[in-house]
Amino acid sequence: MPGSSTGTNNQHRAVEALKNILELEKKLEFTDRAVMGGLDKFIERTATDLPWIREIEPLKGSSYAALAPGLRYRWASAVMVRLKGGATPAAPTQNPTKRAKPAAPKKTSSSSRTNYTLETPLDELKFIHKQTRPKLARMEISTLRDLLWLFPHRHVDYSKVTKIAEVEYGELITVAGRVVKSERARIGPPPGAAKILINDGTGLLEATFFRQAYLANKFRKGSTVAFSGEIGAFQGRAQLQNPEYEEISSDSSGQSTHAGNLLPVYPSTEGLAQRSIRTSTRKALDISEALLPEFLPSDLLNRNGFPGRYPAIEAMHYPAEFGHQFQARNRLAFEELFMYQLAALKRRHEWRNRNDGIVVGKSDSRSVVQALESTLPFDLTTDQSDALDQIIDDLNDGVPMGRLLQGEVGSGKTVVALASLLTVIANGYTGALMAPTEVLAEQHFLSISAQLDAVSLPGEPEDSVRYANMPGIENRRITIVLLIGSHKRSIKARLQQMIADGEVDLVIGTHALLQEAVSIPRLGLAVVDEQHRFGVEQRSALTKRTPRPHLLAMSATPIPRTLALTVYGDLDVTTLKTPPGGRKPITTKLANGDMARNHAYEHVRREVASGRQAFVVCPLIDKSDAIEAVSAIDEFERLSSGEFKTLKVGLLHGRMTLPEKQDVMDRFRNRGLDVLVATPVIEVGVDIPNATVMMIMSPQRFGLAQLHQLRGRIGRGEHASECVLMIDPEQNATSERIEAVVQKSDGFELAEEDLRIRGPGDYMGTRQSGWDELKVATIDDVELLQLARREASELMSTNANSLDDHIELANELERVMATQITDFS
Ligand code: ADP
Ligand code: MG
Repeated sequence: MPGSSTGTNNQHRAVEALKNILELEKKLEFTDRAVMGGLDKFIERTATDLPWIREIEPLKGSSYAALAPGLRYRWASAVMVRLKGGATPAAPTQNPTKRAKPAAPKKTSSSSRTNYTLETPLDELKFIHKQTRPKLARMEISTLRDLLWLFPHRHVDYSKVTKIAEVEYGELITVAGRVVKSERARIGPPPGAAKILINDGTGLLEATFFRQAYLANKFRKGSTVAFSGEIGAFQGRAQLQNPEYEEISSDSSGQSTHAGNLLPVYPSTEGLAQRSIRTSTRKALDISEALLPEFLPSDLLNRNGFPGRYPAIEAMHYPAEFGHQFQARNRLAFEELFMYQLAALKRRHEWRNRNDGIVVGKSDSRSVVQALESTLPFDLTTDQSDALDQIIDDLNDGVPMGRLLQGEVGSGKTVVALASLLTVIANGYTGALMAPTEVLAEQHFLSISAQLDAVSLPGEPEDSVRYANMPGIENRRITIVLLIGSHKRSIKARLQQMIADGEVDLVIGTHALLQEAVSIPRLGLAVVDEQHRFGVEQRSALTKRTPRPHLLAMSATPIPRTLALTVYGDLDVTTLKTPPGGRKPITTKLANGDMARNHAYEHVRREVASGRQAFVVCPLIDKSDAIEAVSAIDEFERLSSGEFKTLKVGLLHGRMTLPEKQDVMDRFRNRGLDVLVATPVIEVGVDIPNATVMMIMSPQRFGLAQLHQLRGRIGRGEHASECVLMIDPEQNATSERIEAVVQKSDGFELAEEDLRIRGPGDYMGTRQSGWDELKVATIDDVELLQLARREASELMSTNANSLDDHIELANELERVMATQITDFS
């Protein structure tokens, strides 16, 4: 029976379209304008599904165009009567058997004959004009699916079109008509203007496009256009000046593709006419109904009032009214988010079912934490303790942990990581701590060594191997190594050997090292710091190991709510909300202009005079002609012989060797330096509580999140701190981004702002989040996302995590998961 139901659907749609067109034609007083190019073509198409339409008098044997308006009116009224189900004498050919027959088999045979699938390449879509195909390809349309999902960015509403005869001065209107004259005029500023005169059958109206003389070539005589704008007067005549315009068809034979009053306007590319896109999408839709079966459960659709899948896609292009397009959009956005959530739940379920996690002995787990805490100069905050409770529970479970520890810069994530690592180590496993940069890995190595009073042994390389006593366990010595790329080859080889031999308890290194097949025996817990910079490949290298180690990802980059649900849909999230006490707020200022910059330098000198220190961060290492931005080397030289002549100034950048970097950091930490000029290598993790000024040069070169991270390097001690954004002299305007950093200090608010400014495509971590693959849903669809999450978990739980009863859905899920880059399983 599927064939006949398809036929019925087509008929139903044809009826709706026909009603709309006739309504419109009536409004247009039967002037044959409801369909661009004339009603006859439309009638011809409609006759496929409603063959009786041509039999109705007085059209029978004639054409609509040939009829006088009065006769058109009679025909239209008779059709309406018939459509409304009235038994009409004007329909003598009505014959139920005949009606059902041609529609049903025709549709099925036509779609099986062509054998299209949604993945059919554009080049094989013969119904699209040969010359249109390469142009669509330029818009990244490569399959039938892409074409169906090429949604218009808006619709022109023809029910709101005003007759030219009725326009009034001062009104904002849309008119549509044929171009009767199109010429360049030498008026206004160069290159002159275009003057276009249109006729809509009720009158003539001229539009003048100043500075846009080229439009005279675009709108050729005979084409149909729509103009929107305010009616003005010129020499006593009504006129439009630089209205918005839309070319509806480029010649008078343009076949209409819109079924109602709403004409789709597509994103386009050079040389690709709207009309060609419309023809392509209309034809694509016509062959696709059978290719777009519903896969959402019907109770879900009913519960939420969502339209079906095919009708939704069609209504995105050719809605009968705006409301339909809106509902269609909601359904399709929901569908994307729902599939995303299902995928996350499925991965999570599979992962949990592997049950090959490492069970860290339950006994005394918390005693390690307590022992560590007793050696710290501070108490853990409640948030830190709670986080540790959750983590230790996870470690004792047979299921590998997948947890994100989220918290603002300075919220104290490192201690939580260290306590977790020690817990695992106390139970005989190895721990790994990975950081995105060498500087940060090294920082961790140094600060953890300091925390545990670790020492180096004579003959061992001091900058890479340290030994400490395990807190809380008598006579248990642990070995900590720092494994980074810039170590000498011989040292690296030695460290790798030690690791392979099982002599190492804690490996600290860069993200990159993990990929380099460092085989860490008995790896129990991997901590990934600054998770957002951790590549997908690196992450999956980790999770593919068997048995699978526990994973603790840490991120200081606040993830907006919407993103968090997708980026980390398959991770448990713990947030450190309240920072350790005693933090002073950071003031952020703009230094724009010489005076303000001098004030800023003076502020640094004053802070140094009272015993504090300062960072100066520059976007580049050395000067590049291509980019106008301050470089660290230049700035170091300029400041140490200029503004900061009397201060001890140091330089830190990524091209220095490790011992050089370590030396500079040590000197800065020990207050041997007052000011540290650096590249953003210090962006993350560097912890110098005595530093109270962060001066950022060429701040326009930094992203918003990066500025926030840099600012987080200060305000860590007992003194009030200030961040100064030094606007370049030649650049006096500030950006939205910089204003946002000045105004907002809350990382989460900033993250939302950043997302708004840049859009999800650019947002950090989004490459992994899958937002790029979403075509309809946007970052603002918070409610739909929550609904999707609820519906997905309900479906999974009522079906015991199996989609066997929902074959279409399972297939679609498989397809979606195959296209997702996210990989946590
Ligand atoms: P982040 O979350 O940015 O990685 P860190 O772990 O580097 O933050 O912590 C920032 C600073 O706060 C460090 O100097 C750390 O020793 C200190 N700290 C961490 N926890 C506490 C606490 N409970 N009380 C006081 N200071 C703390
Ligand atoms: Mg940190």
